[in-house]
Amino acid sequence: MTASYLGRALGPTVRITVLEAPAVPKIGVGEATIPNLQKVFFDFLGLSEEEWMPECNASFKMGIRFINWRTPGAGQAEARPHGTRRDHFDHLFGLLPSHDGLPLSHYWTHRRLGGATDEPFDYACYSQPAIFDRKLSPRYLDGTRWASYAWHFDANLVADFLRRFAVEKQGAVHIEDRFTEAEVNQRGHITAVTTETGRRLEADLFVDCSGFRGLLINQVMKEPFLDMSDHLLNDRAVATQVPHDDEAYGVEPYTSAIAMSSGWTWKIPMLGRFGTGYVYSSRFASQDEATEEFCRMWGLDPETQPLNHIKFRVGRNRRAWVKNVVGIGLSSCFVEPLESTGIYFVYAALYQLAKHFPDKRFDPVLIDRFNREVETMFDDTRDFIQAHFSFAPRNDTAFWQACKELELADDFKAKVAQYKAGLGVNLPITDEANYYGNFEAEFRNFWSNANYYCVFTGLDVLPDHTMPVLSHRPASLESVEEVFADVGRRRDELLKTLPSTHDYLRRLHGK
Ligand SMILES: Cc1cc2nc3c(=O)[nH]c(=O)nc-3n(C[C@H](O)[C@H](O)[C@H](O)COP(=O)(O)OP(=O)(O)OC[C@H]3O[C@@H](n4cnc5c(N)ncnc54)[C@H](O)[C@@H]3O)c2cc1C
Repeated sequence: MTASYLGRALGPTVRITVLEAPAVPKIGVGEATIPNLQKVFFDFLGLSEEEWMPECNASFKMGIRFINWRTPGAGQAEARPHGTRRDHFDHLFGLLPSHDGLPLSHYWTHRRLGGATDEPFDYACYSQPAIFDRKLSPRYLDGTRWASYAWHFDANLVADFLRRFAVEKQGAVHIEDRFTEAEVNQRGHITAVTTETGRRLEADLFVDCSGFRGLLINQVMKEPFLDMSDHLLNDRAVATQVPHDDEAYGVEPYTSAIAMSSGWTWKIPMLGRFGTGYVYSSRFASQDEATEEFCRMWGLDPETQPLNHIKFRVGRNRRAWVKNVVGIGLSSCFVEPLESTGIYFVYAALYQLAKHFPDKRFDPVLIDRFNREVETMFDDTRDFIQAHFSFAPRNDTAFWQACKELELADDFKAKVAQYKAGLGVNLPITDEANYYGNFEAEFRNFWSNANYYCVFTGLDVLPDHTMPVLSHRPASLESVEEVFADVGRRRDELLKTLPSTHDYLRRLHGK
């Protein structure tokens, strides 16, 4: 991703070499994304969905379905691939409809607190939950898109596709060899790296994409990693891939996040299989216990199923960019993938790197600004994810109880107070074209009002009050009924006319 993005952003005057050790496998589990991936990353490279999706076994994702975050136990069986699911809520992509300059969330709150409806926020304000239930597609067969969506894909296929793109189309040099040492000058800058086979590679700027090892940024530059396990308890995952009979059961157009006894499990459907992994806290479950619970849920035999056990660090480097070394990806920061933000962190940091790209002076102002942007992006997301665990009604195991004891950051508490007062958080930019086209605006306002409402109401955390000003707008309160009715009409029409996700993907992938 880094080579192809910088190749496009900086053009042929900057020469890019990728050093990669084939013997050290990629983490390979980042398979769920968020919608701006196309606009900010692939469109920027000049790659349409039709070009990259078939190469990467990509499928659609219109949001995340959270399962069993309110009630324990019984739901486990319901979370099996083909069961019905009572305890769920959806975190949806796309903007909320608005009415008289306010998002529908505020009117929904008014109806809900006034006892006028018990319909959940997601089903009342969006068409998507009903479409999820029927596994229908975000596109018609002629390609027309009706909803905002992101993608699931095979991470190794994407890496391979982008390697070919960077090398063949952009002239990047790809060297297969293992980094062993760095040479550092008196200024503290890396001047060259050497490899296992004796190569010596000089450069002005080094981007560390070595994963959790942080070979350059942590090990050579000695930049400390700020551990944030006081915000988030999970530090392990056990992952695998499960074959799936799409013909019989269809393909879900969403990621699932299923609450477990000591964490949660992702389910990421693609054609013919789904990727899944149990993210858990080693303080509350051993590897064997987590593996047993995970395999039991999917009906897998832990003795024969290939399982990938992953240990991860949670937090970020104190500075993402130090002297002439920039960490991108897992070498820079990591928060568990509950909101699928890892790959976003990669291209968001690349966007900022291209914007603050240095000349040979390495002006500290550029570096500081870049670091500030990465810090805000990361800390905001960490807090939002922490709230999922803090606010989840589940309290049935030591893990869920411990989640409630962790302190939320002060900035975040202020946002929660605003939400509880009925004001909403980061009120949305209502023009979708502008929003998704304008990464700068989106970057600043990343977790918007709709995100907060989807997750908080889903966890049964409602505002304490209707937005006070609404009591002075009786005409809006009356006319909004038509907007809610429109959501229902639109949903019914979509249910009648959309193809299944499976049919759409089969056609796209020529299967
Ligand atoms: C459990 C888990 C689940 C995740 N799920 C999601 C998700 O659903 N959505 C999402 O957006 N993100 C997710 N992520 C994050 C995502 O996987 C990463 O952000 C993404 O894959 C980028 O990883 P990376 O390239 O930084 O590191 P890696 O994939 O670890 O790559 C490191 C590279 O460094 C090379 N290397 C290592 N040592 C050397 C050496 N000595 N010399 C030369 N090369 C070397 C390796 O060969 C490899 O190519 C998840 C992460 C984890 C841990």
